[in-house]
Amino acid sequence: MADTTLMDKLVSLCKRRGFVFQSSEIYGGLGSVWDYGPLGVALKRNVKDRWWNSMVHARDDIEGLDAAILMHPKVWEASGHVAGFTDPLVDCRHCKNRFRADDPRIKGTPGQPDAQCPVCGSRGSLTEPRMFNLMFKTFMGPVEDSAAVVYLRPETAQGIYVNYLNVLQSSRQRIPFGIAQIGKAFRNEITPGNFIFRTREFEQMEMQFFVQPGTDAEWFERWREWRMQWHHSLGLTPAKLQWHQHSGSELAHYARAAFDIQYEFPFGWQEIEGIHNRGDFDLGRHQEYSGKKLEYFDQAQNQRYLPFIVETSAGADRVALTLLVDAYREEQVEGEVRVVLGLHPAVAPIKAGIFPLVKKDGMPETATTLYHELRQEFACFYDDSGAIGRRYRRMDEAGTPFGVTVDGDTTTARTVTVRHRDTMQQERVGLDRVRQYIVDRLGATR
Ligand code: ATP
Repeated sequence: MADTTLMDKLVSLCKRRGFVFQSSEIYGGLGSVWDYGPLGVALKRNVKDRWWNSMVHARDDIEGLDAAILMHPKVWEASGHVAGFTDPLVDCRHCKNRFRADDPRIKGTPGQPDAQCPVCGSRGSLTEPRMFNLMFKTFMGPVEDSAAVVYLRPETAQGIYVNYLNVLQSSRQRIPFGIAQIGKAFRNEITPGNFIFRTREFEQMEMQFFVQPGTDAEWFERWREWRMQWHHSLGLTPAKLQWHQHSGSELAHYARAAFDIQYEFPFGWQEIEGIHNRGDFDLGRHQEYSGKKLEYFDQAQNQRYLPFIVETSAGADRVALTLLVDAYREEQVEGEVRVVLGLHPAVAPIKAGIFPLVKKDGMPETATTLYHELRQEFACFYDDSGAIGRRYRRMDEAGTPFGVTVDGDTTTARTVTVRHRDTMQQERVGLDRVRQYIVDRLGATR
């Protein structure tokens, strides 16, 4: 399968099955903004729940937070976003397309006669790069003047930094401890694309871990290991995950060390999560700009210091895309193409399809009762229309790991057929055991 067609096929499957739709589609869509349909919202919710469970529920040293999207404009001055969250933008005067100046497809130097537009091929038509701030601006209150400017947050992290003392004091945590948050972020990206990989509105899952200076390198290594384990626990192909270390010139202004977890997408190795040692940059800047002391007092050591921060920052949409890309496969089965999303059962939007083999002999009644029982426990889908093979195929495309069929033997032997999505093998399971049978297999890794 050629790699570009894989993305095209995935986009079309996502629309057909209700994972992802283009935003405002009936009006022609809005550039790089996407809506999640019934299956997509369930997939993304499962990703976020697994992240929240592993970060907040399973640990006693991390607290949750949900900060507002709108923040005081000074936050973005302190963070460096107003001055520095920019990309160099160039226009083609001829075809009117826009590019990042560092777009690898551009030949020559933008602004110079030798530079060539990667779309229309014109020479000398590219403008000098100008810096373009990626933050979305809006106005607070009725007056649209510069005093009323607020920004849609371009990352969730700042909400954590400015609340760190509130959380510390109210939760009675001690350093080392962390704050985790899931929420929307907005970036007016110049060259978004690759479906939900790079969008203008997206969700981040960020955790900031506050540590004593000097212990940061050790914590950084721990977090690197834990975060890679988490991606493995989603069932992603291990050979398609790798580390990318930021070298000197790549390092952001705040970072002492940075590693990305990359996945091998059809369009190349790309970041899905960043792990950064941010030192005391953030708290130092907020202390300076707000004039409020943000130091921590360590009673045991009778010492006052500004904590260092180790950050783990992942995109929920990007992880969802990674799961879809990793799971998509086509197989030849009895002369037909079978499209399967081999999603890990824990993230699959629907865990089981429930089917009466035919619409008679009491089968729909038994299947409906079973469906209502099972859906108390996990997400199920009831389907009684069309040949059973077609119903299985529809569930294969949705990534549903189990198909449960009520048939003629159900009334007499009190058993159903459980069909496994990946192997297509079927086995008989007692009607009263199906619930436990599926529950036992939902958490298991492949
Ligand atoms: P990139 O270099 O891909 O623009 P970044 O280094 O700016 O990403 P961070 O600021 O570290 O990214 O953001 C952390 C995570 O948030 C990324 O690993 C990614 O999963 C997600 N993310 C960032 N920008 C976007 C976007 N425009 N669309 C979707 N997810 C994003």
